[in-house]
Amino acid sequence: MAAVHDAGSLGPGTPAQALDAILIGAGMSGLYMLYRLRQQGLRVRVLEAGTGVGGTWYWNRYPGARFDSESYSYGYSFSPELLQEWSWSEHFAAQPETLRYLNYVADKFELWPDIQFRSRVTSAHYQEATRSWDVTLHDGRRYRASFLITAIGLLSAPTLPRIDGLQSFRGQSFHTAHWPHDPVHFSHKRVAVLGTGATGVQTIQEVAKTAGHLSVLQRRPNWCAPLHNSKIDAATQARIKATYPEIFARCRATFACFIHTPDPRGTFEVTPAEREAFFEKLYAEPGFGIWQGNFRDILTDRAANAAISDFVARKIRARVRDPRLAEKLIPQDHGFGTRRVPLETFYYEVYNQPNVELVDLRQSPIERVTPDGIKLRDRALAVDIIIYATGFDAITGSFDRIDIRGRHGQALRQKWGNGPQTFLGVQVEGFPNMFMLMGPHTALGNIPRSIEYNVEWVANLIGYMRQRRLSRADPLPEAVAAWTAYVKDMGEGLLSNEIDSWMTGINSNVEGKQWRIIARYSGSAPAYRQRCDEVAATGYRELALS
Ligand SMILES: Cc1cc2nc3c(=O)[nH]c(=O)nc-3n(C[C@H](O)[C@H](O)[C@H](O)COP(=O)(O)OP(=O)(O)OC[C@H]3O[C@@H](n4cnc5c(N)ncnc54)[C@H](O)[C@@H]3O)c2cc1C
Repeated sequence: MAAVHDAGSLGPGTPAQALDAILIGAGMSGLYMLYRLRQQGLRVRVLEAGTGVGGTWYWNRYPGARFDSESYSYGYSFSPELLQEWSWSEHFAAQPETLRYLNYVADKFELWPDIQFRSRVTSAHYQEATRSWDVTLHDGRRYRASFLITAIGLLSAPTLPRIDGLQSFRGQSFHTAHWPHDPVHFSHKRVAVLGTGATGVQTIQEVAKTAGHLSVLQRRPNWCAPLHNSKIDAATQARIKATYPEIFARCRATFACFIHTPDPRGTFEVTPAEREAFFEKLYAEPGFGIWQGNFRDILTDRAANAAISDFVARKIRARVRDPRLAEKLIPQDHGFGTRRVPLETFYYEVYNQPNVELVDLRQSPIERVTPDGIKLRDRALAVDIIIYATGFDAITGSFDRIDIRGRHGQALRQKWGNGPQTFLGVQVEGFPNMFMLMGPHTALGNIPRSIEYNVEWVANLIGYMRQRRLSRADPLPEAVAAWTAYVKDMGEGLLSNEIDSWMTGINSNVEGKQWRIIARYSGSAPAYRQRCDEVAATGYRELALS
C-alpha cells in the first residue's frame, strides 16, 4: 500500500493546494467514483473514517455476515478484466471474501495513494466566493475542493438501543457494525443477541453453533426465507464468467437490479394448486426470488400479501418444534416482504436447540443493562457477551452526522427537517457541486448496480461541466419539487410504506426518527435510469449551471 500523503490539507495560514474533488467514504461507491474521476484527470482525495477500504464489508465483521445478493451479480461490472480475474467461491459470499475482493480492486486500480484513512469528516461548508467546499476532519485538518461527493453509505451509521445502563455492563459487548478485527469466541459463554433483523438473523444462526447458551431478545419477528447458499464449482464458475454480459444485462432490466424480478402474473390469476407450487418453488430456490421474483402484486394487494404470508407462516410452523415458540416467530404486525426480508440458513431450526432460548420482549421488556447482564421485567438475565444487532440510522443517518452547510450557511439537517428533498437523489438545491452517491431518493435494490450507474452519471456531469468551464451546478427548486413529488407518488399503494421500518425512516433508537418520511425511491431502477438519462441528454436543463 502506498504511503498516504496529505496534499490539499489546509493547515493554519497555509494556502490551499487545490483538489478538484473530495470524496467522503471508501466503500463500493467511493472506490468506483475515485477510479472514474482519476480517469478524467481530476485531483481527488478520498476521506475515510475507517482504517481500510470496503465500507459495509470493512465494518460488519460479525459472525455470519454475508451477501443476500448473488455474489456474481454484486461485484463491479465495469472492468471485464476484473470480472475474469476474480472468482467468487460461494453463490452468496461471506464478508471476509468481499473485503478481500474490495482490497483486490484497490490494488488492481492503484487506488491507495488517493485514499486517506482515519479521517472522519465532521463538517463540509460551501464557499460561494470560491465556488468550493471546505471540509474539516475530526482532528481539525481541513481540505478544499470544487466538488464534494458523499459516498457515506445508506447503512453506515450504527445505532445502539436506548436502554439505561448500557455502559455499566462488565462483560464483552459489541455492535455488529463495530465488530473487532480479532475473532470472538462463544463456546461456554452465555450470549445475548438483541435484534432480529437481517443482521441479527445472520448472527444468531452462527453464534448458536458454539455458544454455551444463547438468549435471543426479540422485540418483533421478521419474515425470513431460506438463502440456500452453496459453493460455486468449477463448471458453474466457468459458466458465470462466460455469461457476465448476460447477467448484468438481466440486472439492468429487472425492477430492483437483482437477477430476480416480479412474475407478471397476479397471485389470484392462477389456481390455488399452481399458486402453492410456485411458492414452494421460490422457497426452495436460492436468494431473494421469493421476495423479488414473486407474483407481481404481493407487495401491493392485501389479499395477495396475505396468501404469501400464510405460506411462509406454515413453513415456520413446520420448522419449529414447539408450536407456541413458532407463533412467536411469526410476524403479526406486517405482511411478508413489507420490511426487508432476512435470508437465513437453518435460522428457525436454531430454536429447536437446547442451548437457545427466545426472549419475547413484548411480554417481558428490557428494564436496563446491568453489570452482570440484562434486567428484564420478569427476571434478570446473566450473560457474558451482549451483541447489539440493532442496525443503523438508515439513509439519512450518515448525513445527519456531518455538519453540511450550503449557500448562506444553510444546514442540510435543517433543510431535510421534514424529510429529504433531492433532485434524482443526487443533488440538493442550495448545496451546489455536492453530489450524493446512494443518498436518499435514489434507486437502491442490488446496490452495486445502482452505484455504478450513479457514479457514471455524476462523472459525466462533472466532465460536461469541465469541458464547458462551468464551476457551479445547483438544481432548480422546481426540479427538486418535481422529483420529490415523483418519489412520493412512486411509494403510493405500496404496503411497505404503511409499515414502520428503516425504509420509511423510522428508528425507535434515534431521537426525532419516530415519524415516517419518504427517504427511499420505490419505483423501478430502469425508470430511474431513464429519467436520469433524459436529464443528461437534454443538457441538464434542471440544473442551474454557471
Ligand atoms: C450487513 C450488510 C449486508 C449487506 N448486504 C447487501 C447485499 O447482499 N446486497 C446489496 O445490494 N447490499 C447489501 N448491503 C448494503 C451495502 O451497504 C451496499 O451494498 C454497499 O456496500 C454500499 O456501499 P457504499 O460505498 O455506498 O457505502 P458503505 O459501504 O456504507 O461505505 C460508506 C463509507 O463511508 C464512510 N463514512 C461515512 N461517514 C463518514 C464520515 N463522516 N467521514 C469519513 N468517512 C465516512 C464509512 O466509514 C464507510 O466506509 C448490506 C449492508 C449491510 C450493512
